[in-house]
Amino acid sequence: MSAISLADVYRARQRIEGRVCRTPLVQSPALSRIAGVPVHLKLETVQPTGSFKLRGATNALAQLVEEGATRVVTASTGNHGRAVAHAARALGMEAAVCMSSLVPKNKVDAVAALGARVVIAGKSQDDAQIEALRLVREEGFAFVPPFDDARVIAGQATIGLEILEALPDVATILVPLSGGGLFSGVAFAAKHINRDVQTIGVTMERGAAMHASLAAGKPVLVDELETLADSLGGGIGLDNRHTFAMTRELIDRVVLLDEASIARGIVHAYREERLVVEGAAAVGMSAVLDGALHDARGPLVIVVSGCNIDIETHRRIIGAS
Ligand SMILES: *Cc1c(COP(=O)(O)O)cnc(C)c1O
Repeated sequence: MSAISLADVYRARQRIEGRVCRTPLVQSPALSRIAGVPVHLKLETVQPTGSFKLRGATNALAQLVEEGATRVVTASTGNHGRAVAHAARALGMEAAVCMSSLVPKNKVDAVAALGARVVIAGKSQDDAQIEALRLVREEGFAFVPPFDDARVIAGQATIGLEILEALPDVATILVPLSGGGLFSGVAFAAKHINRDVQTIGVTMERGAAMHASLAAGKPVLVDELETLADSLGGGIGLDNRHTFAMTRELIDRVVLLDEASIARGIVHAYREERLVVEGAAAVGMSAVLDGALHDARGPLVIVVSGCNIDIETHRRIIGAS
């Protein structure tokens, strides 16, 4: 009943090879001391567009090219739009990216700089989505969703392959959780290689649509609230096809964090790991710092999902600590 098979993940890896970075897995002595077990960081921050989203986007667009498509559109809070723009340019496709007026300026500029047509529509992810679907209907674009898509999930799942290859005895993997494309992919690959791996989703306590949906037993709407983990905002779609079911099946536990904890993760990353990370990427480190993983088995891997934080916001958080 999964949207993907392990064979899809290996095919995704072949498709993205040479276009997407095989990212480093590095030890964190500081977090290992705190957790009491070896902790490793999977650094998606080094991807060309600054987040793992390049994996899913590149896999999806490469498949579209194989099918003869020439124009793609997406609606995105930033990192997916940036990834689609980058992948489209690399593969010779035309890209349009629809986003709401709430998306931070640094993310809007980054998409435009990659040569995509930026379309600002409305005040929510849903408004941006409606505009993207209009381009599909009226201008013949192919739509690439940010998470609820088998091609995207298979692309993100290549992270799981890399983790299990670099660290075959990994016991626990912490994954930032929003729409669940990243979680579904990583957990699917990891558990299909070793069913004993524990997969934990980490997200903010305010406005976490997947967590609310898991609790309700079906996809539900939540209010979008401002958070330091802005890449974790947005709904999972009431008509969610894949990631809700996959996340529900594969998730062992959800850890919820408040804003102060997310800020502590960003500060820890900078001071102790010498990493600039965005709020959504800090959450795994925050969870360890909070003591939420005190009973977890090691070795433990934290997926550090991206680095696209507004640099003034970052400076403010570091300065206030
Ligand atoms: C999109 C994103 C996430 C969450 O991924 P989902 O597939 O939506 O769960 C986490 N971190 C960063 C940096 C992201 O861009």
